[in-house]
Amino acid sequence: MAKKIEKCSFCGRDRNEVTTLVTGLEGHICNYCIDQAKAIIDEDLGSKNDSKFAELHLLKPIEIKEYLDQYVIGQDDAKKVLAVAVYNHFKRIGQKGKSTGEVEIEKSNIIFVGETGTGKTLLARTIAKLLNVPFCIADATVLTEAGYVGEDVESILTRLLQAADYDVAAAERGIVFIDEIDKIARKSDNPSITRDVSGEGVQQALLKMLEGAVVNVPPQGGRKHPEQKHLIDRSNLLQYIAPQDLKSFGLIPELVGRLPVVTYLNPLDRAVLRRILTEPKNALTKQYTKLFEIDGIELEIEDDAYEFIVDKAVEFKLGARGLRSILEAIMNDAMFELPSKADQTHFLVTKKYAEEQISKTSAIRLKVA
Ligand code: ADP
Repeated sequence: MAKKIEKCSFCGRDRNEVTTLVTGLEGHICNYCIDQAKAIIDEDLGSKNDSKFAELHLLKPIEIKEYLDQYVIGQDDAKKVLAVAVYNHFKRIGQKGKSTGEVEIEKSNIIFVGETGTGKTLLARTIAKLLNVPFCIADATVLTEAGYVGEDVESILTRLLQAADYDVAAAERGIVFIDEIDKIARKSDNPSITRDVSGEGVQQALLKMLEGAVVNVPPQGGRKHPEQKHLIDRSNLLQYIAPQDLKSFGLIPELVGRLPVVTYLNPLDRAVLRRILTEPKNALTKQYTKLFEIDGIELEIEDDAYEFIVDKAVEFKLGARGLRSILEAIMNDAMFELPSKADQTHFLVTKKYAEEQISKTSAIRLKVA
């Protein structure tokens, strides 16, 4: 009797026609059908909005701050304000749609005020990571009123939707960080003289977004349902805005009124800069240590080398932003040469070495980086 040829129970291809045939108790399935089944499952999960953005786990403000502490050094006041705002934000979302006639909790957008490189973006990013919500950064300086060259305000929400993999429910819980809002000051005190498409016009558009409403966002490059328009309930968005100086930047009063939570970030002093080098969970020196470790090299940085790096960062007035470019300049030669030196197992950075490396690097390159 001829031996029975095993076939895929789904498509009927026999074993010779497929790469893999998985055998179960009652039947077989080939690699082609597995691929197809997987695609169907993915599609199904996607349409159920069961995306990578999991359900929110509500943390208490103190827990939120403890998490922030692992990544952001100092800035305790800003962390507390942020922790409370986020906690209330989720209480508010929880209340939505519940019985009417009760006190309605208003949305509170947050404005971060602080010098460059003091951790405004880092705070917003870290909180987005903790909450597992989509996050996008928009640069206020490229915004223009709808219909003019540049990005209009609603395009920010399109970006948020992209960051959410087109999962509207996730996008509604997302965080928008609008950077450099101080740069969209009203151009003149008399708004009627000329059209001010990048100043007041943008502020009016931002105001609408901050007030919260339903907006139609055409998907940009949306692959799955290109013709579909998405509705985003803006009222759930939490906005982080980062001006340098609240008083001098000419925001229209209505907009200021929509930013009730103002928090100030301190300039980073030497002690904080020194801690930023080594303490955060993904501190810069931990990253370099890891990079060298992969080549079997143990990285050691002497204390006065650290002090020297801090001195330079203070000199460049770029806050913690300068630390990265300074370290990069110090490490680059070693990262170039050492991987080829088979017998090197240890790399010591002394103050002298750091000074030499920095003196070889042009100040412009350091500042630009
Ligand atoms: P900005 O205030 O200009 O938004 P960023 O948050 O982008 O500054 O910070 C610039 C860089 O400095 C980032 O790499 C960030 O990790 C680091 N940094 C800034 N402030 C802190 C801080 N308080 N703790 C840890 N790292 C910080």
